[in-house]
Amino acid sequence: MDFEDIIKRAYQSVENLENKGQLASYIPELARVDPTKFGVHISTLKGYHYGFGDFAEKFSIQSIAKVLSLALAYERLGGEIWSRVGVEPSGTGYNSLVQLENDNGIPRNPFINAGALVICDILITLLDNPKEELLGYINNVCSLKNIQYSPKIAASEKSVGYRNMSLCYFIKSFGNIENDPDEVLDFYFDLCSLEGSCQDLSELFLFLANGGKSVFTGEQIVATIKAKRINSIMQTCGFYDESGQFAFKVGLPGKSGVGGGIIALLPQDYVIAVWSPKLNEKGNSYKGMKFLEAFTTLSEVSIF
Ligand code: GLN
Repeated sequence: MDFEDIIKRAYQSVENLENKGQLASYIPELARVDPTKFGVHISTLKGYHYGFGDFAEKFSIQSIAKVLSLALAYERLGGEIWSRVGVEPSGTGYNSLVQLENDNGIPRNPFINAGALVICDILITLLDNPKEELLGYINNVCSLKNIQYSPKIAASEKSVGYRNMSLCYFIKSFGNIENDPDEVLDFYFDLCSLEGSCQDLSELFLFLANGGKSVFTGEQIVATIKAKRINSIMQTCGFYDESGQFAFKVGLPGKSGVGGGIIALLPQDYVIAVWSPKLNEKGNSYKGMKFLEAFTTLSEVSIF
């Protein structure tokens, strides 16, 4: 497959679209990002790497990091985590509170904010230094080892993080947060502040296209059965209330973040990462979604 040609053609098909949508300005630091940025990078299991546009520039990966916190918690705790968080699409926005009361504080899945907060709580219970250990786990997976927290973004989100605070305290009231909610929120804001480029991300997530095994070290990062399940949750829940649309139009497991990044993967083949900061009304990158739709249309390959 000539990925360079396909990426260029997919890019051409979106480059003249009106750059619709909004920056994630509810996080003040993210309102300062240049909305015209656009980058894409693909990495394959066979060792092919190709980037286009702003693919080497770091951005705030936000909820894409929730896949990594889930991988670490799942690998360490195993199937027990499913008593604390579900695996069903929520059909609601990423920061919604509405289902939690009926669901007794058990979030529908680990990729909505409520579920990611519970995963952070699990990691705090399991790990001595959750922040350092998570970063070590992430950078151990990739060859570039460039992923870092952004204290500035974490502080910015924390300064206005009332919705996430509400979610965390509400879940605590049902007993599904074990630790101090402020400690959980601190870790959550750090998690969301992680920064990396499209190149970093496409290399980083290769282990999930490779049955859970790092292509760089040969290490089993998560068991193969767990990689399958993480990919399936990305497929059904990776884009919040737009997960069905993403499956319909793109046909790959993937995960978005409000920094405008998206990763998507074809098992046994590749990971593609795209970044365009303006978001559609569901909180997913407007151009990123359009680009990936064009990409799998032109390549004529998807999991379906
Ligand atoms: N940090 C963001 C929030 O909690 C993450 C949301 C996202 O990327 N979808 O609102």
